[in-house]
Amino acid sequence: MSVVLSIWEKESFYAPQDIIIVGAGLMGLWTALELKEKRPSLRVTLLERNTTPLGASTRNAGFACFGSPTELLHDADTQGTDDMLAIAEMRYRGIEKIRAHFTDTAIGFDACGGYECINQDYTHWQELPDRLNWLNGLLKGITGKPALFQQVNHKLAAMGLRGFDSLVENETEAALHSGKLVQLLTQKVQAAGVTILSGLEVSTIEKQNNSVCITTRQNHQFTAIHVLLCTNAFTNELAPIAAIQPARGQVIVTSPIPNLPMKGSFHFDEGFYYWRNLGDRILLGGARNSAFEAEATTDLTGSASVRKALEDFLAQHLHPSFQYRIDHHWSGIMGFTADKRPYTARVKEGVTAAIACNGMGVALTPIVAEKLSQQLLDYF
Ligand SMILES: Cc1cc2nc3c(=O)[nH]c(=O)nc-3n(C[C@H](O)[C@H](O)[C@H](O)COP(=O)(O)OP(=O)(O)OC[C@H]3O[C@@H](n4cnc5c(N)ncnc54)[C@H](O)[C@@H]3O)c2cc1C
Repeated sequence: MSVVLSIWEKESFYAPQDIIIVGAGLMGLWTALELKEKRPSLRVTLLERNTTPLGASTRNAGFACFGSPTELLHDADTQGTDDMLAIAEMRYRGIEKIRAHFTDTAIGFDACGGYECINQDYTHWQELPDRLNWLNGLLKGITGKPALFQQVNHKLAAMGLRGFDSLVENETEAALHSGKLVQLLTQKVQAAGVTILSGLEVSTIEKQNNSVCITTRQNHQFTAIHVLLCTNAFTNELAPIAAIQPARGQVIVTSPIPNLPMKGSFHFDEGFYYWRNLGDRILLGGARNSAFEAEATTDLTGSASVRKALEDFLAQHLHPSFQYRIDHHWSGIMGFTADKRPYTARVKEGVTAAIACNGMGVALTPIVAEKLSQQLLDYF
């Protein structure tokens, strides 16, 4: 039921804005912060349809990573070396930027190191050492490390892993607490003067004269000079964008495993499986490739078959002496593009979308937000 607004409400919460951002995940939050840092007088409101952000940002695996070696090599082969390096640099800078804003303790940042498990059926298995050297040479310019990726196969058994032929280490990778990051970033955005209104689902967006008018499912109206959609995989509900595909990611977490020897973040099978230690538990996500079509959905319910594939993976690859049960499971929704690149574009008059950070938004969103905020400010 809609109510008539008081003059107080009209002149505060519902006052015309310069920019309204839809979606309070990492993309919306970092962009709001950038806008206010660049131009403090800008009137910015952020609308979120759930009580807390509900999509990918609070439901991911918390890898602060800038790319596993086979992923980067694949990107260099398919997108070209320059493009691969540009994204790797964005991700590297993104992690540095997160750490410049928040202390490691506050966001549970753990410089635990990262690993990729590789098996002999990898297409470039024979050339792996040469390709890693090539990659190291290229990435030195970004990280300053002469030998970023190193094969450390001898560590596999000591970590309690089995069923892999090679382990490649990247000691600069890290993990963080996604809930704490989003919560603290939200507080920072509010402290910068952005109004965040939760529980308001945007249902229509229309250009009228010099403003863009927004109506919510709860029948509230807002106006702004420009609207920014940070609604990731849900954007198709508001402004269909053929290039964006939803991809559900599912995660399981074990009970504590006494004396767990495995520390770090891990990738396998082109990133279709990823896991990390969470204290002495293991958090494992992925297996989307076990049911590609069914997982191309925005339904957060999750599926028993993917959870089973994840449990089977643990049973196959953990040392049999580990005793555990599955204590937690959840799912989140990613937005994917065919080339795995973020999508920022004008989608209709007065409306821009900044979406699809694929499976790497933790590191990418702070940097995508920098360029995007500058483009938006060019309107004013
Ligand atoms: C299982 C899983 C694991 C992942 N692991 C990692 C990882 O380890 N490292 C990494 O870098 N990345 C990871 N990612 C990807 C990363 O989480 C995303 O790239 C990033 O969070 C995307 O942020 P976003 O703000 O674009 O989208 P979201 O966080 O999805 O935010 C979109 C927001 O828009 C809101 N919204 C939607 N429609 C409306 C509407 N009509 N009105 C108002 N609000 C609306 C939603 O409620 C939501 O809060 C993972 C993702 C998943 C799902």
